[in-house]
Amino acid sequence: MNLKISALEYIQEVKNGNISAEDFVAKTIEQIKNIDDKLHAFLSVNDSAVDQAREIDKKIKSGNKVGDCFGMPISIKDNLCIKGNKTTCASKMLENFVAPYDATVITKLKQQDAIFVGNVNMDEFAMGLTTEFSAYGPSKNPWNTEYVPGGSSGGSAVSVSAFECVASLGSDTGGSVRNPASFCSTVGYKPTYGLISRFGLISYANSIEQIGPLTRTVKDSAFLLNLISGIDPNDNTTIDNGDEDYLSGIDTGIEGKKIGIIKEMIGEGIDPAVLSATKEAISKLEKLGAVCEEVSLDMVKYSVAAYYTITATEAGSNLARYDNLRYGYDFSVEGYEFNSYISKARRKFGPEVTRRMILGGFVPSAGHAGKYFLKALKVKNKLTKEVNEAFKNFDLLIAPTVPILPFKIGEKIDDPVSLFLVDINTVTANLTGKPAISIPFSHSNGLPIGIQLLADSNQDKLLLRAAYALEQTVTLPGVPI
Ligand code: GLN
Repeated sequence: MNLKISALEYIQEVKNGNISAEDFVAKTIEQIKNIDDKLHAFLSVNDSAVDQAREIDKKIKSGNKVGDCFGMPISIKDNLCIKGNKTTCASKMLENFVAPYDATVITKLKQQDAIFVGNVNMDEFAMGLTTEFSAYGPSKNPWNTEYVPGGSSGGSAVSVSAFECVASLGSDTGGSVRNPASFCSTVGYKPTYGLISRFGLISYANSIEQIGPLTRTVKDSAFLLNLISGIDPNDNTTIDNGDEDYLSGIDTGIEGKKIGIIKEMIGEGIDPAVLSATKEAISKLEKLGAVCEEVSLDMVKYSVAAYYTITATEAGSNLARYDNLRYGYDFSVEGYEFNSYISKARRKFGPEVTRRMILGGFVPSAGHAGKYFLKALKVKNKLTKEVNEAFKNFDLLIAPTVPILPFKIGEKIDDPVSLFLVDINTVTANLTGKPAISIPFSHSNGLPIGIQLLADSNQDKLLLRAAYALEQTVTLPGVPI
């Protein structure tokens, strides 16, 4: 049984009767059991996955209508609610939280007969970019287990890259889908803000975050987008995409498209191997008929500062509900007055979430808001104007997904500012609401490098088309596991 097939290949194989959902899912669960001790992608594994697959096989055999996923095994980031499942956000605060309802993306995938093989690891409450801030220990990069897999959707990327599932869903607030996709050599896609419902995604910074797929191929991301996008009465930020088919025309190329190379994302601090991969990607795109030219986005230099100010503020408010009264129930209120009780309860948060909570209390507070929060919003607006201007001249923008290579576990954990700066190339898409995708492109010393493309709002179809064209020019080595 070949576990390395893409989602679309899986569907074809099941349709042709070459494999059964039960066999494939059983093999996938076996792979998780065999390999996950080394990688720690999973926080929980679904014990009834094989039984569910057997039911789908029965449906197929009896000629009943089967959903488009045909029992495809998918892993789910641990901040997406699956009814009856423990959903911890990789936090001790939600150690015993069982989701009372399904996220909209989960409902949609259930309707299409996807099988959720397990919940995957992440940085606590999606704050981080290495998965080291999980309260349950870090995930490891399958390309070299001494290295971080990226984050915060690290478990998603690891599970796809190590064949522990066919595809995964993560969330991307400032790069959390694209960053681990780049570090683990998978495709990672952050759609236009509003294209996918966030109902049932445990909020971190809801004004900018989106759920996104991590897959083996660009076509697989387009396929999943077809299934999970669209308007949702439970999330009033969703947009009506008219049931767009993101797979149709995906292979029509990019002849004549204008691509802007973001100057500020290939400058200071970039690893030489990442820079040369970017140049190679640009020359491949030119060979495909695109016209590439440098473009300057001046506000990018303030984007990380603005991003962390805005997200800390939203997180401060979103995470106020975790007070051990509404969630937790770990110790009795007996003997505490309000402040000492809350401060004890909040000690359940790990160091990174605590840091953001302190920042999130301070930056929007009276007397400081003008200096920090409001200024950050101004940067966000100016950056959006700049990017909108750029899209008057260009169809797409390009930059490396991450300016540096994956680094060793523990290497940056004590230096939060140096970690924050790693997000420099990903936060722009979130602050401006634009779609962006990371495509596996190259390797240096056995470590993956991803290339990022961005498009204007609602140009997801064009973005996927360009990503597909670039992907076709790449042949990469297999993961050494
Ligand atoms: N590294 C960023 C942060 O810690 C991005 C996280 C994300 O996209 N969820 O906020």
